[in-house]
Amino acid sequence: MSFPDGWPLCGTPETRRNLDKMKVLKKKNLIFIGAPGAGKGTFAGALRAEYPVAHISTGDLLRDEIKRDTPLGRSAAGLMKEGKLVPDQTVADMVRSRLQQPDCANGFILDGYPRTIRQAELLGEVLADLNRTLDRVIYFKVPDDVILQRLTARIGCRQCGAIFNKLFLPPKQEGICDHCGGALFQRPDDSLDTARARLKVFYDQTSPLIDYYRNANLLFEITETDKEKALALLIEELNR
Ligand SMILES: [Zn+2]
Repeated sequence: MSFPDGWPLCGTPETRRNLDKMKVLKKKNLIFIGAPGAGKGTFAGALRAEYPVAHISTGDLLRDEIKRDTPLGRSAAGLMKEGKLVPDQTVADMVRSRLQQPDCANGFILDGYPRTIRQAELLGEVLADLNRTLDRVIYFKVPDDVILQRLTARIGCRQCGAIFNKLFLPPKQEGICDHCGGALFQRPDDSLDTARARLKVFYDQTSPLIDYYRNANLLFEITETDKEKALALLIEELNR
């Protein structure tokens, strides 16, 4: 299996997948945990290309409820407008209704949810209600320096707005835009300080959750940073 160029973050469109013909994973009900830049979305997409698992991001769920103007969506939109957090119970209810969709029957990946022990407990209740079990919690444990390098690799052109990436799409000449010859700069959102702050928030928030799932014997850590090798380890574990 490989990562084709321009791999979509959320996998291939449902219409191009023949769910009936796909082989079901032995461990198929999954949570993916990882810092921003750890590649959770990429791994979810690669897994979805081969197995009939649904990829669930609560951010997408929330946007979808709001777009469809459901009662849940209206209440969430109202709270967000006031700058308030959507209550854990509301998010758990959204996840509950999503997990009952047909495409979740042969497995799911919860991407970036739960984030706290309280959310994990609510998810446990939802799964028990639906007679589903959680099979594995995958923690993509990428070293800080690799994460920081990935998060700070984007550079933009002041003149034409083109975006380059020092790792994956470097300009032909360092610091100069290929398109207009303008000066390239690092956007404030991608600075090292911002990246460090995002990483700290992740560790502060997620460390208790990682311990929680480790104690439940559900945690599987992947420390391999080569994406092909990491994907092979992941699939091996899920088929064990
Ligand atoms: Zn330019």
